[in-house]
Amino acid sequence: MSDQTYDLFIIGGGINGCGIARDAAGRGLTVALAEMNDLASATSSASTKLFHGGLRYLEYFEFRLVKEALEERETLLRAMPHISWPMRFVLPYHKDMRFDSTTPTSKLLTTVMPWMRGRRPAWLIRLGLFLYDNLGGRQILPGTKTLDLTKAPEGGPIEDRFARAYEYSDCWIQDSRLVVLNARDAESRGVRIMTRTKVTSARRVDGIWEVTTEGQGVFRAKMLINAGGPWVMNVIQGVVGLNTAENIRLVRGSHIVTKRLYDHDKCYFFQGSDGRIIFAIPYEQDFTLIGTTDADHESFDQKPECSPEERDYLIDFANGYFKQDLTADDVVWTYSGVRPLYNDGASSASAATRDYVLRVNAEGGAPLLNIFGGKITTYRRLAESALEQISGFFPNLPGKWTAGVPLAGGDFDATRVAELQAEIAARYPFLSESEVTRLLRTYGNEVFEVFGTATSWQDLGERFGAGISSAELDWAKRKEWVQNAEDFLWRRTKLGLRLNTDQIARIDAYLAT
Ligand SMILES: Cc1cc2nc3c(=O)[nH]c(=O)nc-3n(C[C@H](O)[C@H](O)[C@H](O)COP(=O)(O)OP(=O)(O)OC[C@H]3O[C@@H](n4cnc5c(N)ncnc54)[C@H](O)[C@@H]3O)c2cc1C
Repeated sequence: MSDQTYDLFIIGGGINGCGIARDAAGRGLTVALAEMNDLASATSSASTKLFHGGLRYLEYFEFRLVKEALEERETLLRAMPHISWPMRFVLPYHKDMRFDSTTPTSKLLTTVMPWMRGRRPAWLIRLGLFLYDNLGGRQILPGTKTLDLTKAPEGGPIEDRFARAYEYSDCWIQDSRLVVLNARDAESRGVRIMTRTKVTSARRVDGIWEVTTEGQGVFRAKMLINAGGPWVMNVIQGVVGLNTAENIRLVRGSHIVTKRLYDHDKCYFFQGSDGRIIFAIPYEQDFTLIGTTDADHESFDQKPECSPEERDYLIDFANGYFKQDLTADDVVWTYSGVRPLYNDGASSASAATRDYVLRVNAEGGAPLLNIFGGKITTYRRLAESALEQISGFFPNLPGKWTAGVPLAGGDFDATRVAELQAEIAARYPFLSESEVTRLLRTYGNEVFEVFGTATSWQDLGERFGAGISSAELDWAKRKEWVQNAEDFLWRRTKLGLRLNTDQIARIDAYLAT
């Protein structure tokens, strides 16, 4: 049993657990966090990786969520201009497109204009984009414009029948790096972060939580926070032994990755005849990311994997737009994650709300806060709401503080990215241009700490392929909780896309020493 009684004990090292830990520690609370695997090992490394308002949620009238998420994009961009950056999205339009859609907007349209059944007319898309441009107080991101695809380069890769498109803004985010940087910030403010530490039981004893972990003993805490993501119900029922009226809906989303399909740096937003949408996004410089699906997922303990049906669905969807026909052989990697959505009784997986719900249970004395749902984009706001909910239990808790406060490596102006890139290239002339880009997008201005005074590859120690050196692995091990090759190659970076099994084994061996 630990001597210390923490203010908060957090279960879950995804974005919500780490975001709350950081915010709470910055307000002076003492916090411990346990993650049963690696940080971001579940949903928070399997997202589409967008800081976005969610254009399609407007069709579900989710105005609160969309407004909050749109506002967040720029706040977050300012605090992490290395791991997040603006992106333009091209939405091709054709007047003969028909959709099988049961969204509230589509039902309303059919009621007032029955001849519009099954259509998403151009004026409706314009209206949606007008709201999207104006709901969230944009300053950095450019607004919507119309593209003539017969002339614009964005028309090149897609079929000629698409003559027009709308182009709008959202942002990219390196999701699993966002988690680790929040964890680092939290740790620097005193949070005890324990990875590979499963919480097996939590009980209220004399008004204090006693939290039992595998491997790290028993902890005492005044409050327990359940940020278990897809495991949230398992934590309530299995770990804490309580019942609740709340429930979640597990919705699997899968992505496929192919070699780079086109030359420009914009994303495509494709609308499917089933009413769903998918994105095609430039990915890791040499690849294209396509996703996602929406399929009900049976259980939290079933590992999400992209099924052959989901892969083929994404391929067929993309083939309806791209000139180039993709086949399963073009898929170089797939990944899959489970959205832990709050169950609002929606008819389909696509329709289930993406908003978050926070519930405090204080029946047995010591309070428990359960987190249901959420998005990467709203993690900081979710953390603020969580702190607001628990403020009654911690008198004189200071107010909000995280808006715009940079994460490690991100304390430079978002307009200075090109300058920083040039600085890195000048300081380490032995790096290729794409290596400089990768390092900037991974470490921001902390790259000068990772590589120090090195003047050649030799100064960085052993080389493992794909620009990985012992200096980088040492940093990852020392500062980012990396324990094995998978942590490094699939979460701290995506360099797993570029290495073969022998190279991966060498990294594993190095990290084990
Ligand atoms: C396919 C897909 C695409 C998405 N795209 C986007 C997007 O583009 N933009 C966006 O904003 N959002 C997106 N999201 C949503 C976003 O990814 C999630 O809302 C978010 O990652 C959830 O984070 P979390 O911390 O709640 O859960 P998780 O990341 O799953 O973290 C929960 C953690 O709790 C741990 N845990 C559980 N039980 C225990 C225990 N007993 N002891 C210790 N640890 C435990 C788990 O190991 C896990 O790591 C997407 C989601 C999916 C699935």
